[in-house]
Amino acid sequence: MRHEWAVVGGGIAGIVLTEILAREGHSVVLIEQGDKLAGDTTGLFHEWIHTGCLYTLAPNHLHTLKFLLGAVDDLLEYYGAFERMNVVPTETGLRLEDGPGWFSPNYIHFKYRLRRANLPWLMVMSRSMYLIELIKDHDWLRRRAGKLYEVSVSEQLGAALSRVRGITSSRERFLDVETSDFTTNSRLLLRDLVATALHNHAELSLANPVLRIEHRDNHKAVVTEKGTINVDRVAICTGKNIPQFMNVKIKTTIAPIAVVRGLHANTESFVELDYVTKNCINLLTKPDGVGLIGGISVDGEEAAAKYLEYVIEQHQKRTPGIEVVGRYNGLKTEITFRNQDRNYLYHIVPTEPDIWAVVPGKFTLGFSLAVEFYRRVYHRNPRKVFDTVTDSGEASEFVSETLWHDIVNNVVRSPT
Ligand SMILES: Cc1cc2nc3c(=O)[nH]c(=O)nc-3n(C[C@H](O)[C@H](O)[C@H](O)COP(=O)(O)OP(=O)(O)OC[C@H]3O[C@@H](n4cnc5c(N)ncnc54)[C@H](O)[C@@H]3O)c2cc1C
Repeated sequence: MRHEWAVVGGGIAGIVLTEILAREGHSVVLIEQGDKLAGDTTGLFHEWIHTGCLYTLAPNHLHTLKFLLGAVDDLLEYYGAFERMNVVPTETGLRLEDGPGWFSPNYIHFKYRLRRANLPWLMVMSRSMYLIELIKDHDWLRRRAGKLYEVSVSEQLGAALSRVRGITSSRERFLDVETSDFTTNSRLLLRDLVATALHNHAELSLANPVLRIEHRDNHKAVVTEKGTINVDRVAICTGKNIPQFMNVKIKTTIAPIAVVRGLHANTESFVELDYVTKNCINLLTKPDGVGLIGGISVDGEEAAAKYLEYVIEQHQKRTPGIEVVGRYNGLKTEITFRNQDRNYLYHIVPTEPDIWAVVPGKFTLGFSLAVEFYRRVYHRNPRKVFDTVTDSGEASEFVSETLWHDIVNNVVRSPT
């Protein structure tokens, strides 16, 4: 049998692409080398949903921030048919509905280290605080089109300057702001997407590494360990393994993480932000006193190990009772062009006729990524109303647990 599409790699990128193609009635097979989906980077991330707050600190003309606002817009618009998609747009920010849903009101606090004599840092942090207020107040009903899309540089500078005096008069070491960023119950979300894709006739091929892709006269032959699958088109979503199939430049950096236990039930998720980037640390809380601690991405394993030691030491000072129960390194992957730095965005790159390389840059961007992929290939929007399924357990057979969950529960993973 010949499929229209092969999607290679079952992380967030492969899962969202498969779902959106199946939703539109295309025949699609998702091929994953592991025995479950979402077990690689998509199984070890923080589960932080970015609404742009972190990128109020980036000197890139709000470019990444606006992409993230667009990602939330696409989530609201194209995923609203899912019963457990519990983000509700209002004219003053996002509201999370109660109950077991894809997202949790585990709002992430930013703690800016106060360096009173450092004017550039004071300006950066006060601009960031001003922009976060705008994000929290953003009109998701779009009647005002969103102030953030039009805020000028001079307005940002003016607002930042007017706040500096207030900030420096604080006696605190850190200034604490609750942001509009929250967390995801990623396994619920992924299982609903997989269950819906299967319901809409997608096929799944697990424990089946793709070895190569061959060009035949009028189709592509996806050669896997279990045999050859003939398709019209291929999306390569294999993260750090993309160069195995095509000549695109991939940049990877290491993000080290430790899993900790023993947090108080009321501990909040936070990021400490500082002018000196390597001082930045974060904590993302999970149920039952578990947390993920980490911070920045670095180059090389040695630097990652050294940085993680620092992170653990800092957290143990702040919360003396915590116990480290596991450590791992995650790889952040991005396709780069002409030696650009990481820009934390998704990339959809047509590398050869009917073959695309796809990298999400962030889990949060997955929703926009799928919608935009569909637009680029078919030149129209995917549908918003379609048959969805709330996973009632069947898809958990296909979707892995998060790595932190397995570490805390002493689950031994089979090597892939
Ligand atoms: C430590 C860390 C923390 C992060 N935290 C966040 C966060 O909190 N919020 C956020 O929005 N983003 C976060 N990110 C980014 C986000 O996790 C990634 O952008 C995203 O998960 C990448 O998804 P992916 O589908 O491209 O890759 P992956 O999840 O790595 O999926 C690629 C899949 O391809 C499969 N594969 C590879 N080769 C083959 C082959 N030959 N044949 C078949 N299958 C193959 C792999 O087994 C894997 O399942 C984080 C990243 C890291 C590293």
